[in-house]
Amino acid sequence: MRYYSTRGKSDHVTASEAIIRGLAPDGGLYVPAGETASLTFDELPAGDYRALAAYILALFQDDFTEDEIETAVFSAYNSKSFDHPGITPLYRLTDQIFFLELWHGPTSAFKDIALQLMPHLMRAALRKKEKETEMVILTATSGDTGKSALEGFRDIPGMKIIVYFPEGGVSEIQKLQMTTQEGGNVCVTAVKGNFDDAQRGVKQIFSDRNLARLLAKNGFRLSSANSINWGRLVPQIVYYFAAYRDLVEGEALGPGDKINFVVPTGNFGNILAGYYAGRLGLPVNRLICAANKNSVVADFINTGAYDSRRPFYRTLSPSMDILVSSNLERLLFELTDHDSELINEWMRQLRESGAYRIDAPTLQKLQDLFWADYADDEDTLQTIAATYRDTGYLIDTHTAVGKAVYEKYRDREQDRSHTVIMSTASPFKFTGSVAKAVLDSNRYGDKSELDLLAVLAREAGSNIPSNLVGLAQKEVVHRQVIAPEEMRDHLLKALSLD
Ligand SMILES: *Cc1c(COP(=O)(O)O)cnc(C)c1O
Repeated sequence: MRYYSTRGKSDHVTASEAIIRGLAPDGGLYVPAGETASLTFDELPAGDYRALAAYILALFQDDFTEDEIETAVFSAYNSKSFDHPGITPLYRLTDQIFFLELWHGPTSAFKDIALQLMPHLMRAALRKKEKETEMVILTATSGDTGKSALEGFRDIPGMKIIVYFPEGGVSEIQKLQMTTQEGGNVCVTAVKGNFDDAQRGVKQIFSDRNLARLLAKNGFRLSSANSINWGRLVPQIVYYFAAYRDLVEGEALGPGDKINFVVPTGNFGNILAGYYAGRLGLPVNRLICAANKNSVVADFINTGAYDSRRPFYRTLSPSMDILVSSNLERLLFELTDHDSELINEWMRQLRESGAYRIDAPTLQKLQDLFWADYADDEDTLQTIAATYRDTGYLIDTHTAVGKAVYEKYRDREQDRSHTVIMSTASPFKFTGSVAKAVLDSNRYGDKSELDLLAVLAREAGSNIPSNLVGLAQKEVVHRQVIAPEEMRDHLLKALSLD
């Protein structure tokens, strides 16, 4: 299968080239050029999560050998990295509603599912090139991506990972997760300013042609671990099938029955994987897009107008605080039957005026598949509290946005189909908000996020994920703080090119 850019279809590349490049040279995103096979339930392989992952990966990464795919899948999904043998287990809330727990990996957030696998795919892809280069992964993070990328790329031969986080812009637990990071090829630096400052610095490095030449001369190549990379998308298709298979095997569903998926959405990567799962033949009824108060994507799905000219809110679900959802471009390309001229025009309008509006037929196609709404912080806390009170099950703030929006969907649409809500982070990753929702204020008071780990574990009778248990004892090894304008020099120093 070949891949081409959403902005122009001339440049066909292999799957491995698409993963190495990340972004296409014309600024677009890579998508499969042809139709993928359609699967029926009987065709899914028997066996564990890894067997399913290898099967689905092979459909998309067809220039990888069976051996390369097996190696990548086994290196990613094993009992050292994941604390549940099912990798993405389902939790049954009621006969109809299930949570898919996507946070059993090494950083307790769903990004691990893709970022544990992608580095191994990248490594295999690089080996196919005649000239071996060292890959340098640069990531600006608002929290979850940075830690997940660090764990995914640590000690992978031929790769370096450099993460920049905003000095005051991440939670206490997220900061400690990063500043205590181990590994011989990792570099973590705080940047003065907010996430946008760090992000702008990374973008400047990527567009610096002189720097790229200097790096190439010394055998380095820059890439990104961001969800614009096709290599982050494919691993996410797998767990939609895994959830469905588990429901059929548990006899909650008959093969072919349609189900809903609810996805707490930020950059539109996770829910787009659900769309591709449907294209592959998974019986999807509705993909329910759940946004927080930064509801730009939900508004878009409801009106056809994408308008990023609005206030930016910091919410209790920070990993979804985003006003430009990059992966939406891929969906629009698919819904317009690969009309790259139209995509170019909309993206130009977005760049120049911050907004665009799609045509009525495309909007109709969008609304046939997707349903969307948002939940604010108050809804979020109430949903965590009510879920815990009614069932004893703790959910994090992002997952709570999903559940709150699902409840609106069920009330309005009266749809009683089986529904899987994507649980995107462990409640122990956001202890401050979760404690506030489920405990009396005299029990959380002025306790730190770290102290609240034990309080919540005792309250809910559940185990703290092992990567978070040890945090307080771990040594802080990354203490550097730099200004955004120092990022280029910092990079050169990190690569010993100064
Ligand atoms: C990244 C993230 C999301 C948003 O996922 P997208 O693929 O960007 O839509 C939701 N929840 C958590 C916990 C995340 O880390």
